[in-house]
Amino acid sequence: MLRLYNTLTRREEEFAPLRDNTVRMYACGPTVYARAHIGNFRTFVCVDVLRRTLKYVCGYLVREVVNYTDVDDKTIAGAQQAGKPLREYTEHWIGAFRADAGQLGLELPEETPRATDDLNLRAMSDMILTLERNGHTYRRDGSVYFKISTLPEYGKLARLDHEGMRDGARVDVDEYSKDDPRDFVLWKASKPGEPSWDFGAGPGRPGWHIECSAMALRLLGEAPIDLHAGGIDLIFPHHENEIAQSEGATKREFARFWLHVEHLFVENEKMSKSLGNVYTLAEIAARGHRASALRYLLLSSHYRKQLNFTWTGMDQAEEALRRIVDFLARLETVTAAGEHPAVRQAVDRARADFRAALQSDLNTAAALAAIFDLVRDVNAAIDARQIAAPDAMAVRAAIDEFDQVLGVVSLRQAEDAQPPVPVEEIERMIEERKAARRRRDFAAADAIRTSLADRGILLEDNPGGTRWKRK
Ligand code: AMP
Ligand code: ZN
Repeated sequence: MLRLYNTLTRREEEFAPLRDNTVRMYACGPTVYARAHIGNFRTFVCVDVLRRTLKYVCGYLVREVVNYTDVDDKTIAGAQQAGKPLREYTEHWIGAFRADAGQLGLELPEETPRATDDLNLRAMSDMILTLERNGHTYRRDGSVYFKISTLPEYGKLARLDHEGMRDGARVDVDEYSKDDPRDFVLWKASKPGEPSWDFGAGPGRPGWHIECSAMALRLLGEAPIDLHAGGIDLIFPHHENEIAQSEGATKREFARFWLHVEHLFVENEKMSKSLGNVYTLAEIAARGHRASALRYLLLSSHYRKQLNFTWTGMDQAEEALRRIVDFLARLETVTAAGEHPAVRQAVDRARADFRAALQSDLNTAAALAAIFDLVRDVNAAIDARQIAAPDAMAVRAAIDEFDQVLGVVSLRQAEDAQPPVPVEEIERMIEERKAARRRRDFAAADAIRTSLADRGILLEDNPGGTRWKRK
């Protein structure tokens, strides 16, 4: 039975979906105005492992929604600066997110809605009108606000006392006038130069919080949904406000489980643009590291613990992953006939440990340890020639099974199958080298060869032309 720490109750609880063996889950997605950083991806990778655990360890069906926040102050400012329409501007960053997510082996959620899709804006508008009918709102200068004093349970997720909910840095303070600083905006009155829609709540644009409530309930069906996830910084005010809106509108519990991923730190400092330590996947790759190693690193620590990103840690992740891949290659060399019960026992033990680790609030660190215990035991068996080909196949099958959830080995193997330089680039450089040689600029031609060799691609000149191969 899967146990998850539920932020709502501050306890580990047994998790099972409410209906149909299907987990209906929502995770807050990226704000699409820049490339997501590796901290964001810590949250998304952990949510991916949650999703895979639900599917492959627990055997549930999963219906997961991860949204794109494509309208807020930052996306609007970015589009204005770029001189592009908002949708076109955010489309670019959505593409960048999908590319990075693909490289990190994230499974595609069933739904990835954009807040500015008409159906979603309509759902937000409808929810606001329901909240209005239920007496939870007021209007001021064309904007609609949620009046939190109308909801006695407000604060139940964040467990903030009223002291903690005073107007302050973490509260959503904006320039709109509010009755109470703790009240938050549902719909912002239109302003010159900003995109504006009217689906019944008046001309304007949605507040951030309403986006998630409306999209979650539109795409996942009746409240309560089974699970809602995000980074720990979203507990307050974002998730508290999502609860207020959804419960104020439906009069039912919004989400049964709330799961929050702790922050990624960089060299012991909080990642922040001003410290210059915000890394993207592209920057990790530029330092010669692969996405599979980053995924490994992000899973090497429990999701509820802070994780400190260091370059040494990246090297260790590369090394650990290499050990598993080398081990799999070594397994292929086992050809003896027969059967060794001790190997089968090691496999059974690893299976049980792996499963127990993930069922214990997604303890990925312990799950990885179970794999390395198996690697150690089987390496010893290979050294002692106490293993036969069918045993090796059973070991391989177990590791494939584990990797369905962790997704690191298959990712590494897919990377290995890809040349380290894109094929089009290699071909373009071969053409440039040919041109350099035609004009007898041999220094330039050699420089091209050397630069490809540095990146792991060797050129071979044959009478028929130049071919390339991997180093
Ligand atoms: P955003 O694009 O800012 O809306 O954030 C996307 C997701 O990344 C949210 O779930 C955030 O809570 C999460 N997040 C932001 N910074 C970090 C960090 N340093 N470590 C882990 N998760 C983070
Ligand atoms: Zn959200």
